[in-house]
Amino acid sequence: MTSQHIATLADPAQLKGMLKGGYLLGRPEPRVAWVGRSNVGKSSLINALLGARLAHVSKTPGRTREVHFYSSSDLGCILVDLPGYGFAKARKDDIERWAKFIDAYLRADSHLARVMVLLDARHGPTDSDIQVVHYLRDLGLDVRCVFTKCDALKNQSERVQRRRQAGVALAKIGVDSASTLWVSSRSGDGMRALESELRNL
Ligand code: GDP
Repeated sequence: MTSQHIATLADPAQLKGMLKGGYLLGRPEPRVAWVGRSNVGKSSLINALLGARLAHVSKTPGRTREVHFYSSSDLGCILVDLPGYGFAKARKDDIERWAKFIDAYLRADSHLARVMVLLDARHGPTDSDIQVVHYLRDLGLDVRCVFTKCDALKNQSERVQRRRQAGVALAKIGVDSASTLWVSSRSGDGMRALESELRNL
């Protein structure tokens, strides 16, 4: 398995040079973008998928303001690590600032196969998560909700309760809870299903 960091996007002005005819720097693989609130476990999940510690696991939440592209020959796709969108409570201006930075990329990449929205299994979708799902779907993107850190749900009754609560919150915005994935990069739970989804894009 070979994984590598292939590019960093720090300014939307770089996009024109990076994306040509559906290719990213000459590479044809489909892209899968990963978004989520800071601290949701995005870097840990991306590193687990890559089988290498390439994505930076942040000590200071909300710092990253760059888009990173990673290739995985095993998964046959390019993982696009988008900046986290703020910390803790819903902040409309936070979402707007975040959206402004990545909007150009999301609109420019014609080979973006899917956007994975990461949600913390312990807390369920927050208002900012819901706003982001709305925003991405309005752009016409194929959005998938992935709940992280499911190892932190201690027993079966907590798992059932969390899934039910998440299902209710997502149903309000038209997301079918049966389509959600529940994973843990720490325990490996759900990772096979996620990997096989990526291989089949
Ligand atoms: P990011 O800010 O979204 O990139 O999140 P990180 O990957 O840096 O993780 C944030 C925190 O959550 C760190 O303390 C991780 O150790 C922890 N974390 C990440 N993945 C998991 C997981 O699957 N289970 C648990 N229990 N904690 C996790």
